[in-house]
Amino acid sequence: MSSTSLPEALAARRYLSWHDLIRARHGGRVQKISVAAGFTCPNRDGSKGRGGCSFCNNQGFIPGYLRETGNDIELQINTGMGFLKRRYPETQRWLAYFQAYSNTYGEIEQLKAAYRQALVHPDISGLVIGTRPDCVPDELLDYLAELAQEYIIELEFGIESTTDAALARVNRGHDFACTTDAIRRAAARGLTVSGHLIFGLPGESRDEMLAGAARLSALPLNSLKLHQLQIVKGTQLANEWRKAPGSIPLLGGHEYLELLADFLELLRPDIAIQRVGSEVPPALRLAPDWSVRLSQLAPLLTETLVKRDSWQGKKWQENA
Ligand code: SF4
Repeated sequence: MSSTSLPEALAARRYLSWHDLIRARHGGRVQKISVAAGFTCPNRDGSKGRGGCSFCNNQGFIPGYLRETGNDIELQINTGMGFLKRRYPETQRWLAYFQAYSNTYGEIEQLKAAYRQALVHPDISGLVIGTRPDCVPDELLDYLAELAQEYIIELEFGIESTTDAALARVNRGHDFACTTDAIRRAAARGLTVSGHLIFGLPGESRDEMLAGAARLSALPLNSLKLHQLQIVKGTQLANEWRKAPGSIPLLGGHEYLELLADFLELLRPDIAIQRVGSEVPPALRLAPDWSVRLSQLAPLLTETLVKRDSWQGKKWQENA
């Protein structure tokens, strides 16, 4: 059912902020530390595909220290924590973030060993595990559900789009039905489930992006990360964009904010929002070149929703 008056939980930002929720739940900041266990990706090694998703260059979000610490997870945690403690001294809890590549893809004993290496660290309270929806076998989900009895465990799926044509266009190697199946199987085991979505993929119209709000609202998702498409050096999309920039229309900053506001109005109000955009390092980014910086996006989004007298879920229709 849509809400006709602003819900109290959304009063501050006009959308449900994951960070506010987590801070309230744990009594302070909960900070992720990126770790890399040397996993790969089935869309790169040939088991699903080769070359990977056309937008992907994992270097775009790997912190520098991970390039110097090999696969030693304890060293990665200590190095990352040393840096992050100076930046966020108020942090209450730390989570190891298996972010790059597909972190549920591998022999199950190898996966368990990597997760345990992070969990034995005395300051680590849990794991955030980023992965594709087509590599979460039931046996692994059962193991993660066991871990979740003792630790914070969050599974983060790359959804990217709810439109099969767009998923095919970016060589994703799975369809949206695969995503819905994985999210349902994970949530059925009580796991906290989040999703990563990209707005502006080639092959997806604005209406299709907005239609995704109803599709995602129907799923047992706890949170979403929302991103704008960026053309990153070293990707297939970068090659396509260099040859024919017009073939990949990119969202402008203002256009993106309006799209986010439209999307949030249609989204179930209890799906918390972890991110409203991203910023690939300038040395890696070809386009777009916005004047709006990442840190400005969240307040500008709230401003946009206030101007509309609107909020997350205002137009959400249950069972739509
Ligand atoms: S985005 Fe994820 S699934 Fe796609 S190629 Fe990159 S690591 Fe693999």
